[in-house]
Amino acid sequence: MTDEYRQLLNLLRSSEAAGTVVRDIERLSRGIDNVKIVHVCGTHEHTISRFGIRLILPKNVKLIAGPGCPVCITPASEIDAVIELALSGVAVLTFGDMLRVPGSELSLFQARSRGADVRVVYSFLDAIKVARSEPSREFVFFAIGFETTAATVAPYIALGKVPENLSLFVSHRLIPPAMEFMSLLRHGADAYIAPGHVSTIIGCKPYEVFPKVYRQSVVIAGFEPLDVLLAVKTILDLTKRGDVKLVNEYSRAVRYEGNVLALKYMYRVFEVVDGAWRGIGVIPQSKLCLRSEYRRYDAVERYGISIRRGIDVRPGCRCGDVIVGRAVPTDCPYFAKVCTPNNPLGPCMVSMEGTCRIWYQFERTRGGEVSERERATEYLYNSSS
Ligand code: SF4
Repeated sequence: MTDEYRQLLNLLRSSEAAGTVVRDIERLSRGIDNVKIVHVCGTHEHTISRFGIRLILPKNVKLIAGPGCPVCITPASEIDAVIELALSGVAVLTFGDMLRVPGSELSLFQARSRGADVRVVYSFLDAIKVARSEPSREFVFFAIGFETTAATVAPYIALGKVPENLSLFVSHRLIPPAMEFMSLLRHGADAYIAPGHVSTIIGCKPYEVFPKVYRQSVVIAGFEPLDVLLAVKTILDLTKRGDVKLVNEYSRAVRYEGNVLALKYMYRVFEVVDGAWRGIGVIPQSKLCLRSEYRRYDAVERYGISIRRGIDVRPGCRCGDVIVGRAVPTDCPYFAKVCTPNNPLGPCMVSMEGTCRIWYQFERTRGGEVSERERATEYLYNSSS
């Protein structure tokens, strides 16, 4: 860790700064109606839950988790198709988070126990290396994730670095269309905290529609607790003044134009199409698929895969509601009873970016509210290094 970065972290974790921001939030929240702030990022939910940020916010300020977990929103139909491929003898490479996510009947993990060759990789580059090391075997990379991940895949395709024995099952989704979907919901958002890592790629421009068209502020934020608190403070400040704006609070990582080179590769390789989101349905212009000149890498074409209708949400599971912020995990009758990280019934209980999984770890014990508050206070006021 460089000295400069250590200094920045110290500043971000300064108890004095946190105390000031919490007091500002208290002051700004007085005399305003309920404010619903939606974030669309599993990492933000992790920070919020881990540090008990909801517990130190005034009662009229609600922080709501939206569709921000990439494995949670990957439709069962696409998982089913990849499982079918794996069971037919093609080796599947994917991220570890995806392994235990239930498809309609099986997860990739269960398919593996039935003899399918399913392997975990940490990046697309890893997948390329695996495929190169076994040239006589056919591999498919199950490409999930948002803009941040798609940007790491595209350059290898554009630059012709993908070996012939490797193809992709593309399930990448885009965040701004999901936010627009949330904006159209009746229970929707008053304002958004936009995900820092996606924003490093896409920049600020795609969020401009929210203040202009939907009259919703958007604050791009990082992942330290103070980043989230500052975003809340900024939103309350704007609300108090009757203003709506796009604010980049994460300027240490996000530029207005985003990562121009990454975007160039991404849109050279992928085109934007309508796409289904698990628990939500089809969101217009929200999915990436390979452009015709790169279709030779498309596993769907290579293996003639047909995507059939899948079972996204099991009866009783509230994943659909949790994903769009209409319910919290503890509203689900299965939460922490029959649905646990070891036995996930729905996709939100699998990944550390899934809201149910995060709540299982940090917010499960309602009786623990006092200790959560103590933990948050301790962190915010005493951790100065
Ligand atoms: S607790 Fe399990 S079953 Fe309930 S909403 Fe969450 S993932 Fe779905």
